[in-house]
Amino acid sequence: MINLSEIFYSIQGESTYAGLPCIFIRFSGCNLRCSYCDSKYSYETNFSLSVPEILKELEKYKPANIVEITGGEPLLQEKIYQLFDDLYFNGYKILLETNGSISLEKVPDFVVKIVDIKCPASNEEVSFYKGNIQYIHPQNDNIKFVISNRADYDWVMKRIEEYQIQDYNIILSCVFQYLEPRKLAAWILEDKLYYRMQLQLQKYIWNPQKRRV
Ligand code: SF4
Repeated sequence: MINLSEIFYSIQGESTYAGLPCIFIRFSGCNLRCSYCDSKYSYETNFSLSVPEILKELEKYKPANIVEITGGEPLLQEKIYQLFDDLYFNGYKILLETNGSISLEKVPDFVVKIVDIKCPASNEEVSFYKGNIQYIHPQNDNIKFVISNRADYDWVMKRIEEYQIQDYNIILSCVFQYLEPRKLAAWILEDKLYYRMQLQLQKYIWNPQKRRV
């Protein structure tokens, strides 16, 4: 069985797939406690389903065929690997949102990995497993930094250099209501960066407190 928080259909908000309709499978349980966490409700299990039961649930949303597995931290549950295979076999495009702290070694290449590297203001900046860089595809996958302030931004610039990920698909995002988007935009332009800035789309479309979006 897989322990879950929720399954819902919404607009993808935080990756190079942002803006596309997508089915979300939110796993329950997380090994981190980020200061700005907006999904604390996912720390506890709401319900559990087998992999075939999850596939059946997804049929409700046909013909949607992009599925994002998120959390919490989905890689904490071993059954995820069976879910990857069965989703792929059934023709779904699979996105995995992960907090970066757990090895990606066993995640198949057909899964698009959206990997967070936590910044200092999250209070989890030591959580990133550096060995994961070798498993992140420079073009197909995303590396996401969620930035709260200028100190975070400066830290991000140092990490990009340290990890030699200048040519990767990097996403710079603002923590909602902590950092004004116009400030991040100005820093990116001043520094002549060629990285994608992103807002948490779902927070602008719906009430920021709203769940299942
Ligand atoms: S990794 Fe995600 S779910 Fe876990 S504490 Fe951080 S923001 Fe919340």
